[in-house]
Amino acid sequence: MNGAEIERLIQLLGRLPGLGPRSARRVALHLLKKREVLMQPLAAALADAARAIKPCTSCGNLDTVDPCAICADPRRDPGLICVVEDVGDLWAMERGRIFSGRYHVLGGTLSALDGIGPDELNIGRLLERVKEGGVREIIVATNATVDGQTTAHYLAERLSGTAVPVTRLAHGVPVGGELDWLDDGTLATAFKARRAL
Ligand SMILES: [Zn+2]
Repeated sequence: MNGAEIERLIQLLGRLPGLGPRSARRVALHLLKKREVLMQPLAAALADAARAIKPCTSCGNLDTVDPCAICADPRRDPGLICVVEDVGDLWAMERGRIFSGRYHVLGGTLSALDGIGPDELNIGRLLERVKEGGVREIIVATNATVDGQTTAHYLAERLSGTAVPVTRLAHGVPVGGELDWLDDGTLATAFKARRAL
């Protein structure tokens, strides 16, 4: 019915989080109607981002420079590392301006169900960063989901051989809660009330 290009557009849009086939069609149509003011600038922005943005080899954050702007910022405390699941969680922490240390992005959580083990996550690099020295505290800010908790305990175990204390965000993070959905105040409270893991 539709041309191959339109079908391909709808199919790709349908793979975005939160978009089913129906909303993908709506978005595709909207883009086609707003070709000059939206579709072309969006296509250019996507191409630019795909070309320029890469993961930071130190922390796993996404940026156009490597090391990323956070790792390279001398005002940020290199002795504190906040471990998050994804870059979206890092963004949530940064939005709340809660934390002035550095991050480590795991790229997911351990998950037996999805076959994700330690080797699939950015854990080796975290252990290296600790070994390089100068780290005073690791703050594990994985989500309060089952997989997030499992991952936090695994990290605590892996880091137990080092002298670096490992803490975990406390109150305010509801069970099953994801960082990105918390309001900034709740996230700030959870951060301040972190406890030993
Ligand atoms: Zn970085």
